Amino acid sequence: MYGRLPSLSLPRRADGEVILPPVAPDDVLHNSGLIQQLAVAAKDAALLRGVLMRTKEDPSSTESTSYAPFSLFPSPVPKKLFTEAYEVQQDFNMLVDRISQDSEFLTKALASTVQVDEFTAGLFSIYKQVLEEGITQTITLGINRSDYMFDRGQDHSTSLKQIEINTIAASYAGLAERVPDVHRHVLNFWGKSDEAAKILTNNAVKGIAEGIAKAWQLYGSPEAVVLFLVEKVSRNIFDQRCLEMELWYKNIRVIRRQTLDIYERGSLDDEKRLFVDGYEIAIAYFRTGYSPEDYHNDDCWVARLLIERSKAIKCPDIATHLAGTKKIQQELARSGMVEKFLTDCPKSAERIRATFVGLYSIDEGPEGDEIIKKAVEDPEGFVLKPQREGGGNNIFGEELKQLLGNIKDGPKRSAYILMDRIKPQTVKNYLLHPGSALKLSECVVELGVFGVYIRKCRKLVMNESPGHLLRTKSTEFADGGVSAGVAVLDTPYLI
Ligand code: ADP
Ligand code: MG
Repeated sequence: MYGRLPSLSLPRRADGEVILPPVAPDDVLHNSGLIQQLAVAAKDAALLRGVLMRTKEDPSSTESTSYAPFSLFPSPVPKKLFTEAYEVQQDFNMLVDRISQDSEFLTKALASTVQVDEFTAGLFSIYKQVLEEGITQTITLGINRSDYMFDRGQDHSTSLKQIEINTIAASYAGLAERVPDVHRHVLNFWGKSDEAAKILTNNAVKGIAEGIAKAWQLYGSPEAVVLFLVEKVSRNIFDQRCLEMELWYKNIRVIRRQTLDIYERGSLDDEKRLFVDGYEIAIAYFRTGYSPEDYHNDDCWVARLLIERSKAIKCPDIATHLAGTKKIQQELARSGMVEKFLTDCPKSAERIRATFVGLYSIDEGPEGDEIIKKAVEDPEGFVLKPQREGGGNNIFGEELKQLLGNIKDGPKRSAYILMDRIKPQTVKNYLLHPGSALKLSECVVELGVFGVYIRKCRKLVMNESPGHLLRTKSTEFADGGVSAGVAVLDTPYLI
């Protein structure tokens, strides 16, 4: 599925610790003449291959663009952990899908959160309303991305640990598919053709397009279109366009609209089919709608409700959106929870469980009090997370200690969860950002694996893990920020 795997064994330090060797050794990393040349070649390759982003200065201009930030060298990834991440993805697809169908679990698990978090409460109220009205569409399309770091345990082993799973607007499949060619070119230019040949091909966006196309067929109306719900301005538009183009190649029409367009010009007919500007919508695919700013006025909420009530296949539907919240992730970490959802697939439950680190509710009560105390004593050992998506919201270190101090005596603390901090090994690399000088950085990598599945009535008729995303960021930004613009595109060099 992910092509040819190179087979190098992992070097070990005397104490048994696995070391991830950088693809470029120190003498190369410090050879500024060579690095300059490689960077020029790499940037041009990125532009040629379509690793693109609109510019910070002029994000809505269709006339200017630049390369999307990426790493000069691919990063070492243990083959074993890469394989594990792919293997567990179908298990996660199944788990998320089952959670989305368990209204009792969702309601109970989110009960304390919706009391204090207005945004989650808004989503939950839409969920309740569509539950009461009854299901209009028995086909569900899920596109998610499960993100991991390679944690270094106290016994010096390296293991795959999940950061979170994104069940709405999981991005970068389009650009990720284009980075391998850039890194192959860098390695060839440097004279490492054997290594270049080992860079894996990534079919993330093609696989996702297959999923959308299959769901579109199942919807069963050849004239109906795929609606991409997008922000007014998106610097990452080319990533979306990659997917859009794959659908156009399959003769499936795509329209792009903002949430407010649906409020203004969307309607349901008497069979609850969704129409926008004269188009019948087969699939409403969300690339927005996951953060409070996406609902900047009440009309956006009305539009989301209209979509959820419709017969269009939602990607994701509101239940699947809620299943991807951090609160649900924390509830799943409780002993026996994953196992309860997967009683018929104990191996799947085991594989999923192995990727979890500790996650803790800090709701009022002795359980929450105890873990807050621990986190205040050891702030570097934890991450404090609000119910938000999109990067830049998590709280680390001293700030975590202070915030816990401020919220510990009231119900507000239910808006957050605590998570054990994952501590990956660092690797040196150059991270290329438009307009920035070349600088050698100490980096950490984060692997995401995409999942695509379709349920028709109660049966999964597709369950795939079509591709991956590797991102790297400087340890300067180790306290979060991966999606907030500091993480760059990368490709795995399997070792
Ligand atoms: P978001 O939904 O906002 O993207 P994430 O949970 O994915 O939030 O976290 C954002 C970033 O914070 C991650 O990319 C990672 O760099 C860092 N992070 C999150 N959880 C952990 C953790 N448990 N340990 C270490 N770093 C983490
Ligand atoms: Mg996220």
